[in-house]
Amino acid sequence: HLSPRLEAVAKHVPQGAIIADIGSDHAYLPAHLILNNHVQHAIAGEVAQGPFENVQHEINKRHLNGKLEARLANGLAAIDIADKVDTVVIAGMGGILIQDILSAGQSKNHQYNTLILQPNTDENVVRSWLNNNHYLIIAEDIVQEGSHFYEVIVATPGESKLSEREIDFGPYLLQSKSPIFVAKWQKECDRIKVILAHLENSGNQDTPTYTKWQTTYDRIKEMIS
Ligand code: SAM
Repeated sequence: HLSPRLEAVAKHVPQGAIIADIGSDHAYLPAHLILNNHVQHAIAGEVAQGPFENVQHEINKRHLNGKLEARLANGLAAIDIADKVDTVVIAGMGGILIQDILSAGQSKNHQYNTLILQPNTDENVVRSWLNNNHYLIIAEDIVQEGSHFYEVIVATPGESKLSEREIDFGPYLLQSKSPIFVAKWQKECDRIKVILAHLENSGNQDTPTYTKWQTTYDRIKEMIS
């Protein structure tokens, strides 16, 4: 069984897709998708030796030879046009790293039918990259595991002009304002409140830093109220 986070990623994978899971580690996601006849074929890319061995272990353990391929490579260098990958998943890493992987792969001048991205941080960086690189966000999700909130962003080739607000909070997440989404941003407000209190107590209330945090706080509060 997948974790709620990977379940939220899996449900956006088109039926019958050929997927590449970049930074796959244990390959739980592609293994699950193959075993459930959700995808035709999967490639699990890994840049590090240990996680690459974890992928190989999963392939052997679940007899996925010929269906799931392990490839040791940096980012999208794991795949080639000949692989006919239509869906790329990049999950469980920071948004800046996801952006770097997408940017480095972009030089191949090829677009994937579906990108499913699950940044652990800096989701705005990922949305901004998509917005500037001819991808249109078609769905978003947010799930909670313990005290962590995870966003899933699904994109397809297309043009969009997201506002700053949509980049920061997510166009679909903003529309639905689910209880989990509100809880995520309430948690951020609580964190900023602590920062503001520290600044007040140390006599730093009339500083640009204080104003910056206060503005951010107000913007989030306005958004979730
Ligand atoms: N995708 C899985 C998930 O969501 O559960 C595993 C996430 S794991 C925390 C992140 C993995 O990304 C690590 O195994 C790391 O080696 C791999 N990784 C980091 N940078 C990478 C890159 N440039 N190319 C391929 N894999 C990368």
